[in-house]
Amino acid sequence: MKTALVCGAGGFIGSHMVARLKAEGFWVRGVDLKFPEFGETAADDFALGDLRDMDFCRAVLDRRFDEVYQLAADMGGAGFIFTGENDADIMHNSAAINLNMLEAARRRAVRRIFYSSSACIYPAHNQEDPDNPNCAEASAYPAAPDSEYGWEKLFSERLYLAYARNHGMDVHIARYHNIFGPRGTWRGGREKAPAALCRKVAECPEGGAIEIWGDGSQTRSFLYIDECIEGTLRLMRSGVAGPVNIGSEEMISINNLARMVMGIAGKAVGIRNIAGPTGVRGRNSDNRMIREALGWAPSRALADGMADTYRWIAQQVMANG
Ligand code: NAD
Repeated sequence: MKTALVCGAGGFIGSHMVARLKAEGFWVRGVDLKFPEFGETAADDFALGDLRDMDFCRAVLDRRFDEVYQLAADMGGAGFIFTGENDADIMHNSAAINLNMLEAARRRAVRRIFYSSSACIYPAHNQEDPDNPNCAEASAYPAAPDSEYGWEKLFSERLYLAYARNHGMDVHIARYHNIFGPRGTWRGGREKAPAALCRKVAECPEGGAIEIWGDGSQTRSFLYIDECIEGTLRLMRSGVAGPVNIGSEEMISINNLARMVMGIAGKAVGIRNIAGPTGVRGRNSDNRMIREALGWAPSRALADGMADTYRWIAQQVMANG
């Protein structure tokens, strides 16, 4: 039986990854500081602990796993990453996790390891035009990310590539672009725009208004969780190290995303654009490389994924009063 280790298995993408690997017949160990918030883990074994601790990393790597997915990070949406208040934690915690996990995997002679980087590594100056951002993989350098979160991701990308170069590890790196879907964080300060907008619309009384950070004309693309997992597995099992974008090319402004949610909810509420952290003006995935390298790219319409997500978040809002 094939074996997989999923770090960050208590989080959004990690918990979906565990479920998919189990469905494929893997024996799976999940690792995280916490169990998944929304439902039971599908993992065969779940180790609760801190990946900043090298001894813990070595203990969970007690065998030569066929596949290791390193998805653990100290992260959140714009309200967590762009205020500056969490910068030291973001850089220290995520870098420590990656330094430890990679070294522990090398010592255990694990060969195949996946690392989740982010679109946040792209230079801010290429993302000032909301209609025409440049996020081609090669545009990452000269580097100028707009957050410490992005700088840590860039450092760790280079760390994984250095281990591939010097230690012969089979490394695969994706730059995820705004992943969303059911069972993602939807309140508490770490939620991202799709979940936050679904919650706000679900909670808003008819005739009321929801608040949106910035003028709402900032653009993004959003990738549904199932396609994120599919792309990750295809990349992991390919001969491509990356970094490769895994994202959607269906770009939308945040105000229009809010209108899409209102349409799904069948609820006409107003929009109040207020000051708040917004990040770059525009961002979109550039899928030329993934199409060429893997012969595959995400294709699900944003509105479909948002409908599933809204349904799930509306249920959470109802259940939580
Ligand atoms: P998430 O916050 O839901 O999951 C991350 C998990 O890591 C959490 O469950 C957290 O408890 C765990 N973790 C943090 N510190 C830890 C530690 N010291 N020891 C053990 N576990 C620890 O985030 P996610 O959305 O599932 O993201 C997964 C990965 O993908 C992260 O690396 C993230 O940076 C990257 N990514 C996500 C997105 C997105 O839109 N969701 C976009 C780009 C990149």
